Amino acid sequence: MVSWQEKANSALKGIKQRYQVPMAELTTFKIGGPLDLLVEPENMADIQKVLTFCQMEKLPWMIIGMGSNLLVRDKGIRGIGIKLGGIFTHDEFYEGLVTAGAGMALGDLAKKTACQGLSGLEFACGIPGTVGGGVYMNAGAYDGEMAGVLKKVQAFDVEKGTIWYDKAELDMGYRHSRFQGSGQVITAIQLDLKIADKENATAKIAELTCQRESKQPLEMPSAGSVFRRPVGYYVGPLIEKSGLKGFSIGGAQVSMKHAGFIVNNGGATAADVLKLIEHIREIVKQKFSVELIPEIRIVGEE
Ligand SMILES: Cc1cc2nc3c(=O)[nH]c(=O)nc-3n(C[C@H](O)[C@H](O)[C@H](O)COP(=O)(O)OP(=O)(O)OC[C@H]3O[C@@H](n4cnc5c(N)ncnc54)[C@H](O)[C@@H]3O)c2cc1C
Repeated sequence: MVSWQEKANSALKGIKQRYQVPMAELTTFKIGGPLDLLVEPENMADIQKVLTFCQMEKLPWMIIGMGSNLLVRDKGIRGIGIKLGGIFTHDEFYEGLVTAGAGMALGDLAKKTACQGLSGLEFACGIPGTVGGGVYMNAGAYDGEMAGVLKKVQAFDVEKGTIWYDKAELDMGYRHSRFQGSGQVITAIQLDLKIADKENATAKIAELTCQRESKQPLEMPSAGSVFRRPVGYYVGPLIEKSGLKGFSIGGAQVSMKHAGFIVNNGGATAADVLKLIEHIREIVKQKFSVELIPEIRIVGEE
C-alpha cells in the first residue's frame, strides 16, 4: 500500500516539504516532538493543493505561525503542519491602506506602520507571532488588540475558496476570533490605521519595547502568558502570592521575572510544563478559589 507520505511527495510537488520536523525548532518554548510533515505554501494555489490533499487523505492539519502560543506535546503532531511563505509574507502600503500577508511577523508590521506615520498597531510591536496568529488569537497588549485595528480579514476555505470578512463578521473577543475551530486559513488582513506623527508612533514603540523588556523574561524560551486573565484578577500576582515564583518541575519553571510566564530552563519537556500548569492551577484554586484557564494552545498527540 502507498503511504500518505509517498502520495504527498507527488501531490504536493513544487511545495517545500520537510518530514519529521522537531516542533522544538518551530516554537518559542523550544519544546515538542516531531511533526510528520511541514509544508510551506507560497500562494493560494499551493494552499488549495495542501488542503485538498488533507481532505482526500483524511489527514489532520494545522497552521503553524511563529509557534509563540503553542505547547506541543512530546509525541509531536500527526499529519501536516502548514507554515505560510511566499506572498503571505509580503505587505503593501497604498494611500494609507495597509494590506499584509498572514505569514508576516506582526512586530515587523507594527514597526513598519509606525515608520510610515500610521498609528494604531504600536501595541503589537513586541508580540512575537505572525499576523495570522495575531488575528486567530485576537492578540493584544497595552490596551490594544487586533480587533481594534482590523478592517477586513481574508481567509481560505477548502469548500468556499477565498473569502474576505468585514470587521463586524470577525467575532473577536478576549483571545478569541471566528477562526478558532473554523478549519480556515487566515491569509491576509487589511488594517484600519490613523494618519499620525511618525516621531510619536516610533517613540511609542520604543517605550513599549522598554516596558516589555523590563517586565518579561524575553531572554528565556517561553510561550508568553500561560493563562487567560480571570475577571477581577491579574495572573502574575495570584501565582506569586501562592508562593510559586521560581517553582520548577523538571526543566519547566515559573519565571522569576514574571510569574505569569513558564520558562524552559533547559531541556524542559511538554510533560514537565503540563505538570507545572496543573500544579499552579491546583494551588491557586486552593488559595484564591480562582480557576486558571490556559491561554496557550496545547496541541499534539497525547
Ligand atoms: C515572549 C512572548 C510574549 C507574548 N506576548 C503576548 C502579548 O503581549 N499579547 C498576546 O496576545 N500574546 C502574546 N504572546 C503569545 C503569542 O505571541 C500570540 O498569541 C501570537 O498571536 C501567536 O501567533 P503565532 O503566529 O506565533 O501563532 P502560533 O503560536 O503559531 O499559533 C497559535 C494558533 O493560531 C493558529 N494560527 C496561526 N496562524 C494562523 C493562520 N494564518 N490561519 C489560521 N490559524 C492560524 C495556529 O494554528 C494555532 O492554533 C506572547 C508570546 C511570547 C513567547
